[in-house]
Amino acid sequence: MGNSTSLRGTSVIVAGAGLAGLTAAYELQRRGARVTLVEARDRLGGRVWTRRDGFAEEQHAEAGGDMIDPDQETIRRLAKDLGVALSPILRGGFAFARHAGHAPVVMRASEAGGLWVELAQAAEPWVLAHRLNERRWDGPIAQQLAGQSVADWLDAIGANRQLRARLNGLRGFFLADPAQLSLLALVDQLATESSALDHFYRIRGGNDRLATALADTLQEPLLLNTMVRAVAQHRGTVRVTLRRRDGQSHMIADALVLALPATMARRLAFTPSLPVPQRKALRDLHYGAATKTLLQFDRRFWRRQGKPLAYGTDLPIGAIWDGNEEQQGRGGILTLLAGGSTSRDTKQLLAQGGAEAVAQRLKWLGATKAVLCASCHVSWEDDPFVRGGYAVFQAGYDPEQRAWLSRPHGRILFAGEQTSLRWQGYMNGAVESGLRAALEVEVLLGRLKSQAQ
Ligand SMILES: Cc1cc2nc3c(=O)[nH]c(=O)nc-3n(C[C@H](O)[C@H](O)[C@H](O)COP(=O)(O)OP(=O)(O)OC[C@H]3O[C@@H](n4cnc5c(N)ncnc54)[C@H](O)[C@@H]3O)c2cc1C
Repeated sequence: MGNSTSLRGTSVIVAGAGLAGLTAAYELQRRGARVTLVEARDRLGGRVWTRRDGFAEEQHAEAGGDMIDPDQETIRRLAKDLGVALSPILRGGFAFARHAGHAPVVMRASEAGGLWVELAQAAEPWVLAHRLNERRWDGPIAQQLAGQSVADWLDAIGANRQLRARLNGLRGFFLADPAQLSLLALVDQLATESSALDHFYRIRGGNDRLATALADTLQEPLLLNTMVRAVAQHRGTVRVTLRRRDGQSHMIADALVLALPATMARRLAFTPSLPVPQRKALRDLHYGAATKTLLQFDRRFWRRQGKPLAYGTDLPIGAIWDGNEEQQGRGGILTLLAGGSTSRDTKQLLAQGGAEAVAQRLKWLGATKAVLCASCHVSWEDDPFVRGGYAVFQAGYDPEQRAWLSRPHGRILFAGEQTSLRWQGYMNGAVESGLRAALEVEVLLGRLKSQAQ
């Protein structure tokens, strides 16, 4: 397995040029397959989207995936293999700013870093149970946790206002309010989170460099503005129906990697159809609302001796961090991520007063004398090719359904952030899912070949 010729003579279609699809295509080609990558948008990268237009001093920032955690080794190794450099960022980690009348009360990063620890303590019986349960989604422990929301749990333990505020502050992380998020999603995070992350990475020159570096290795042209509409399997081949501006066409291959968000995969027509539980798993999966606002100011007023570079908040503008500390220039970009119901709050602010209205909410950070030079914002729930930021396991989503999100259907393999168990919602999860799907193709086609001999 895994040599450069094991897939020679085979053809594979990969749908979706996000990190999952690009990684799958790269890996399949390395094993000798002829790969055609099709993408509905007019650009590659999907939810990795570095915005450069309009910013002064040639600065840029991320409208989608931004931070890479230190223990996300797969994406870091891939970047290294492709000669793409990483910059360390946000040293000191996230502080926490809690809504309190005029100006928020700020808890320093060192104290706020204990957030996960504090939460893990509050949820300790469940965290222990979840660890012992080892992600057995079908057992009573997972079922019990999945059936209740974080808000239900907060009520049950009689949580104080501070704990509730901190969970509201995680809307920019889970992209869901405590009333929607399942306790299972929170406990799973608490059971695996390396306590108090105090630094991160992003790709030097923009996270889209990883996507373009992957695409540059591909021998076949990447088909942009090309949407998969239907997939049929017949006599050992996969026939994919594609829609482009100039009409409909078909393509045939030995296998198909569907590296699409569940919101898009569930719209395709499959022949033979997907099993009923797989259709349900795709249909029921919710994607969280997320508005990213990138604000470029003429000076980096948030950078002061001893002050944090990143804040989780329970404010309507969401989490806030330095969006381009690794770049040169007098000015700088602040990134705001409003998840769950705060996405709506931020959109309202933007509709009423534009980016200035959002900037006005940053006075407590010292923005009073700074000039807003440029801005852009993206609400991912309004994006037609994903319809949300990333998958959210809501209260009531049966965790047994998760296995169906990645279960192969004949010669169709599934990849994408939502299929990852350890790194769901991360770029690293997308990359790992692409590697896994490529391996599945290899095993599947290898096995089929030996059966035919
Ligand atoms: C606001 C925001 C902040 C984030 N922050 C972080 C972060 O800090 N760190 C981190 O690690 N992760 C972060 N993420 C998550 C990360 O960006 C995603 O997990 C990852 O990029 C998903 O990659 P993917 O390949 O699974 O999906 P996508 O990137 O969505 O790729 C799927 C591709 O399929 C295409 N497509 C859809 N339908 C069709 C069709 N029918 N036919 C053909 N193509 C189609 C889409 O256009 C898209 O290009 C963030 C995401 C968002 C939205």
